Amino acid sequence: MILPKVNRLPPEQVQEITEIVESSGCRIQPIIGAVRTIYAIVGDERDELMINRLEGLPYIERIDRIQSPFKLMDIRSDLSTHQIAIGGVTLGKAPLFIAGQCTIDPKNPNFFYETAQAVKEAGAQVLRGGVWKPRTNPYAFQGDDKSLDILVEASRRTGLPVDTEVMDENQLKLALDAGVSLLQVGARNALNYSLLRQIGAAVAGRKTIVLLKRSMHMGTLNEFISAAEYIANFGNPNVILCPRGTAPALDGYRNFPDESIVPLLKERTWAPVVVDPSHSVGKAAYVPGCALAAMAYGADGLCIEAHVQPSKGIGDDPKQALTPEVLAETIRLAKEIWPLRHPAAR
Ligand code: PEP
Ligand code: MN
Repeated sequence: MILPKVNRLPPEQVQEITEIVESSGCRIQPIIGAVRTIYAIVGDERDELMINRLEGLPYIERIDRIQSPFKLMDIRSDLSTHQIAIGGVTLGKAPLFIAGQCTIDPKNPNFFYETAQAVKEAGAQVLRGGVWKPRTNPYAFQGDDKSLDILVEASRRTGLPVDTEVMDENQLKLALDAGVSLLQVGARNALNYSLLRQIGAAVAGRKTIVLLKRSMHMGTLNEFISAAEYIANFGNPNVILCPRGTAPALDGYRNFPDESIVPLLKERTWAPVVVDPSHSVGKAAYVPGCALAAMAYGADGLCIEAHVQPSKGIGDDPKQALTPEVLAETIRLAKEIWPLRHPAAR
């Protein structure tokens, strides 16, 4: 990681550092912050000659080398003060609540418009709605491009930024063109490195944020953080980690609840952690407890499925969506817990 003395290097100096790192088989990735740009060395940073040549340049303050498989997302990285903001919330300064339907029903758009308004009133600052769905059963409803228009219209009506999952490059392009602020990488794709790279490249230079679910098949925490690094190393480090339960499931729950990894993640990465209790436990009755446990473990926020009339929903909504009333109560209690675990932000 190259830290210059000034906030941004002029092109000639970027050219000079680029030539030095490329001659050692690495490349430069600028990470543009609100005030300062830092220059990540992508590749093996251990080449002493390269480091000496960079350190010898009069406009370089210092070179930070951290031995980590995720240089950018590491807690010791120079990006550790990077702030991510959405829906009027700066992560870490106030709790973030993302809520809405698992799946938008293109045949019944009014449910989604009503849900959007209801989750806003319950205290959510970001609206979620599944346009395209990763379904285990190939004959189950797979989503519909038309639902993207419904999502955009709901965002217009409520003023809330929106979150939706994309599974391929075409959906990624459609979502970005439609102005989706929060792109969800689903649990099934959190280990799809080609998609992670495509998303990283597509969001570089934009304010877009990525909500990276934890794969149900991820073992180590480093595997999870490294998946975030795949996205960030294209230049946009706006990645939020989202534990959502893993396999094999705890008998009775949909997955194995994993909100207890929040403090462990926070020892290794500066990335905000927003927990999804809905897919973790998979039944509306258990969701508030899991949500509040996540807050007690120090989560920066929650992503919760909610629907005005869960029994009339599709996808996961009939079994795991909260009603607006239960969502409102869960958010109210989560807000009470949050300051206990974020004393510095009080
Ligand atoms: C979802 O958010 O509706 C979803 C499919 O999530 P996951 O990828 O965590 O299963
Ligand atoms: Mn779902």
